[in-house]
Amino acid sequence: MSAISIANLSRRYKQITAVDDLSFTVEPGEVLGLLGPNGSGKTTVVNLINGLLRRDAGTVDVLGHDPQTDARAVRALLGVVPQETNLYEDLSARDNMIHHAALYCRDLRAAKQRIDELLELMALRERAGDPVRTYSGGMKRRLALARALLHDPPVVLFDEPTLGVDVQGTHVLWDHIRSLRDDGKAILVTTNVMHEADVLCDRVLILDRGRCVALDTPDALKAQIEGDTVILQLAGPLADPAGLFGPLGVDEVEQEPDHVVRLRVRDAGRVLGDLVRAASSQAEVVSVRMQRPTLDDVFLRLTGRALRE
Ligand code: ADP
Ligand code: MG
Repeated sequence: MSAISIANLSRRYKQITAVDDLSFTVEPGEVLGLLGPNGSGKTTVVNLINGLLRRDAGTVDVLGHDPQTDARAVRALLGVVPQETNLYEDLSARDNMIHHAALYCRDLRAAKQRIDELLELMALRERAGDPVRTYSGGMKRRLALARALLHDPPVVLFDEPTLGVDVQGTHVLWDHIRSLRDDGKAILVTTNVMHEADVLCDRVLILDRGRCVALDTPDALKAQIEGDTVILQLAGPLADPAGLFGPLGVDEVEQEPDHVVRLRVRDAGRVLGDLVRAASSQAEVVSVRMQRPTLDDVFLRLTGRALRE
């Protein structure tokens, strides 16, 4: 049985269709990524699962329960780390946790022990008495995660978990998400960061204006794109890049500012030397980078638009 089962889900805000006939599942022990640009409907999906929003069509099932008719059961099964972490900034981490426990946990004494364990696990124990407003972005996210895990839910939703978190904090959060997955929890992560979807998620659903345009493992999605990208940084301009590279098996030539040329090639490893030689006949080659297809390329191919716009 899937942990989350969604079929033909739709939700409109007046004339905007934020979620459009969406179907997917999240399995126990899996991280499913919802990857899409701002405004593609990610938060709306999260709020339809956690029962904060009502749907216009379709079904949502969380381990056998419908958030719309069975909100209490779904709340008990779900941990949610929202996009806006909505912590009490003037309270300490521990008081935020106790406040949450008082609202949601029946056994407050047991909850207090678990609070200590979770603060320890999230490396917040030393600062647990300080007001949350003095925390970094990463610490706030970890506190929001600790709070979401208080009742040990089997399903956890993360809405853009690393937004505003620095690189080191991002890696810490990813490790926590992976260990939850390895504990068998079903995890839904929304993101507009291609790299996050690629390295964190077992499967990725690419969302475009509320619609699913692809759903597969990151490797399978990238395998749809034929060819590599070669990026040449030159010291000066090329007279006729298309004419120069076209005969060498380059499918697409794209000129970027500051004499950067992006080439789409079938098998970059084979023709790299030829490309560099051709370029250096006209301008000094400062650097050469070869890139396998990324989820950005997949998004561009499927939607005609770049992911980050
Ligand atoms: P994301 O989380 O991917 O950025 P959202 O789910 O927040 O996307 O929004 C999806 C679309 O729905 C956007 O076009 C957004 O402007 C619109 N939208 C979201 N919330 C509301 C609302 N409360 N009222 C009207 N439109 C909304
Ligand atoms: Mg959002």
